[in-house]
Amino acid sequence: MSRLQIHMFPALQDNYCYLLHDETSDKTAVVDTPEVAAIERALADTGWRLDYILNTHHHWDHAGGNAELKTKTGCRVVGPKADTARIPGIDIEVGEGDEFRLGDSVARVYDTPGHTRGHIVYHFADDDAAFVGDTLFALGCGRVFEGTPEQMWNSLKKLRDVLPDTTRIYCAHEYTQGNARFALTVEPDNAALQARAVEVDGLRAAGQATVPSTMGVEKATNPFLRPDSPGLMAALDMTGADPVSVFAETRRRKDHF
Ligand code: ZN
Ligand code: FE
Repeated sequence: MSRLQIHMFPALQDNYCYLLHDETSDKTAVVDTPEVAAIERALADTGWRLDYILNTHHHWDHAGGNAELKTKTGCRVVGPKADTARIPGIDIEVGEGDEFRLGDSVARVYDTPGHTRGHIVYHFADDDAAFVGDTLFALGCGRVFEGTPEQMWNSLKKLRDVLPDTTRIYCAHEYTQGNARFALTVEPDNAALQARAVEVDGLRAAGQATVPSTMGVEKATNPFLRPDSPGLMAALDMTGADPVSVFAETRRRKDHF
């Protein structure tokens, strides 16, 4: 079995960026390219040589460093098949059900449209790690910029259905504390959420990251994965409503929070 090493580091204001290193083959990838200087520092710190960029979606804080890094390192760019025109330098197009191999480490790709038209998630099942970009955040989800609430809910539901509870969720931003504030407004009686909000405040006060979380924790505490929970429906005065409507209302409230 492969062993995937994950080196996490901050970039820009509140992005997280990840170097992935497959020990057996000595291959290295970076998940998204928010900031070239931060990625170059991480490569210097680890001594790894960049072979691939794995893009989740086209936004500048995810693909903005593609061209420069590709020129400097000769790496190849992997990105969503559904959005090739907006992924600078794309070489390898992947979508739902495809596999990407970083040496012996294998990622399964899922299409998760909603935040953007073409957004993908990379799941390294053997390593219990998923890189979810701006689709799922710790205690939150991405804004629905290009898709519909129904599309976004289907993407989140897919992740909820396919990723085991033990999966470490590596998202692209440190938004957890603000997300917790909002989550408590729609699920005030969720004890697991209350406990987690306290834990998140403690981590942030100590200057520590709240990422990664796990799918099990998200399922229990993230309102955007819980539109079918009776407590959330009741708090929104939507008892009996369908999950899409409950998700849409939750997202709408967060947009105005
Ligand atoms: Zn984005
Ligand atoms: Fe982003």
